[in-house]
Amino acid sequence: MTRLRPLVLVHYHELGLKRGNRPLFLRHLARNVRRATSDLGPAQLRQVSGRLLVDLEGHPDPTAVRDRVRRVCGVASVALASRVVSTVEAMKAVIAHMIEGRTFASFRITARRAFKTYPLTSVELNRELGAFVLERVAARVDLRHPELEIHVEVMPAETFVYVEPVAGPGGLPVGASGTVAALLSGGIDSPVAAWRMMKRGCRVLFVHFHSVPYLPPTSQAKARALVERLTEWQYDSKLALVPFGEIQREVVLTVPPPARVVVYRRLMVRIAEALAKKHGAVALTTGESLGQVASQTLSNIARIDEAAGMPILRPLIGMDKLEITDEARRLGTFEISIEPDADCCTLFVPKHPATRMSEHEVAEVEARLEIPRLVAAGCDGASVEAFEFPPGASVEMTSE
Ligand code: ATP
Ligand code: MG
Repeated sequence: MTRLRPLVLVHYHELGLKRGNRPLFLRHLARNVRRATSDLGPAQLRQVSGRLLVDLEGHPDPTAVRDRVRRVCGVASVALASRVVSTVEAMKAVIAHMIEGRTFASFRITARRAFKTYPLTSVELNRELGAFVLERVAARVDLRHPELEIHVEVMPAETFVYVEPVAGPGGLPVGASGTVAALLSGGIDSPVAAWRMMKRGCRVLFVHFHSVPYLPPTSQAKARALVERLTEWQYDSKLALVPFGEIQREVVLTVPPPARVVVYRRLMVRIAEALAKKHGAVALTTGESLGQVASQTLSNIARIDEAAGMPILRPLIGMDKLEITDEARRLGTFEISIEPDADCCTLFVPKHPATRMSEHEVAEVEARLEIPRLVAAGCDGASVEAFEFPPGASVEMTSE
């Protein structure tokens, strides 16, 4: 009787990694995998030949661990695997166990050797193990479109056997690339932009501008719900809620309607930058996509950038609304974003915002405002809330 030793086998793409970055990448990846599964039970992590293993012997719910790990940024693919000694007999035994009770018309064996001194080549292993399956089930071999693909990975000290690997997000582990401050509205785009930055290894500080008491607090509730969802990818989040209504009121008093949207955005960027500096973020990110709305013309983007002293990253700049919406659905932010609300940008917003303003024109209207005072008011008035995933996990982590 074969004893199954379950584990979660994690593949990451290391091709894109510069040699010096690899240890850092792995440290962040391992920490995030540990954190993502911390409430599910004890799990031992190991690194073996370009793979990360989560040993789950005696674990109550290996599938739950797999489902958490598949969402960790930096993970290319993940599978629930069984570990056996590297003998053909042991491989056969575990394959027999895996195909028991399954019906499939076609299959293939995909054997890989992580070390080339193993006595059998991968082609020989494919043949031998394939013949073994053919003896037991009425299925044929189909190398191109098999109904079941049985993966066999031979390591120096052990072999992993698995079926049905699932794709992860890819990218880099959160934390590996530093911190950015994301301007998070209650809309569809900015949560997707924030997630894209996480996928490139950034930790995200969320900044939301609201107009309470001029508008009801619904936009804050949406921002909280969005941050709660997005925290599932970065485990710890901070959300800065910035009171913007009073600032908008002052803008309305002196700035002509067509110029207001650009002036609001420039103020948001300056306040977000001040908060970013306070929290160790080195760049800003927004959900802008070129030409999507009047405020997102090249000219307006240039004016917005001129107000910032740090890079503004716009991961959605070349995406269509449909593509962004699809991604929002995949992330589970879409349903939250489409809840009706009163965004601060609906307050005091002109019907026809300028699509083109010169640097000079913007400077002229801004000269009537006390910019440093407004920025300080936004920054100092911000309240910061903390979020974590899995809930309560960080407490366990620190007492470890
Ligand atoms: P979104 O779907 O992200 O709201 P949008 O298509 O509505 O974007 P705009 O209203 O022009 O576009 O906003 C552009 C970007 O400015 C947003 O993606 C977001 O990053 C930022 N932004 C807009 N409103 C707010 C807000 N109230 N708080 C924080 N950031 C905001
Ligand atoms: Mg919006």
